[in-house]
Amino acid sequence: RFITFEGGEGVGKSTQARRLVDNLAKVSIGAVRTREPGGTPRAEAIRSFILQGRPESWGAGAEAVLFAAARLDHVKQLVAPSLESGKWVVSDRFHDSTRAYQGLTGGVEEKLIAALEVLALDGRKPDLTFVLDMDPALAFERVRERAPEEALVATGDRFEKEELDWHQRLREAFLAIARDNPERCVVIPANQGAEALEQEIWDTITRRYPE
Ligand code: C5P
Repeated sequence: RFITFEGGEGVGKSTQARRLVDNLAKVSIGAVRTREPGGTPRAEAIRSFILQGRPESWGAGAEAVLFAAARLDHVKQLVAPSLESGKWVVSDRFHDSTRAYQGLTGGVEEKLIAALEVLALDGRKPDLTFVLDMDPALAFERVRERAPEEALVATGDRFEKEELDWHQRLREAFLAIARDNPERCVVIPANQGAEALEQEIWDTITRRYPE
């Protein structure tokens, strides 16, 4: 199974991806944890190239193309082989992030995003996507607490330079993606403790995959 975590910044995707992999291990399911942008050496190189260039930006169109190239490498080198070997793959962000950041929020046309998806996904698609949803004002506070300035700069985090209403639009974008893909996406309110969030995610997994 291929599981992805999506959502805005500071909502807890990385923590929950890690905990899910740990919980799967406890029931003897081998899972590979990965992330995007990145996941393979070449894709990580594209990630640093783009994020370290910020706040100067290539623009959403070029980012969509570069992230698609990174994703194709990630799918071919890591996601597909892991799934084929019988492992689960848990990715902290995947194609919905391109749709939300470069597409719905960045203004790249839907048909271009869709075409790049065909290229980058190479026939793979997540089986289940957790969209962690939180008021961006709260997420902002969390990022502040967790990451002092140098961390913000290092990750290319947008909280430094973007307005809260941009984050609000990003949140709406992820919710719209979830509405358009009701079979695949589960929206989880992320404004709860990490333990409660972990439990809700685990309940969803066991309900969906009772074996
Ligand atoms: O999820 P993570 O914090 O690792 O993402 C790093 C940065 O990449 C985020 O600040 C986000 O703004 C950016 N990003 C992006 N477009 C994507 C995926 C991530 O701009 N498609």
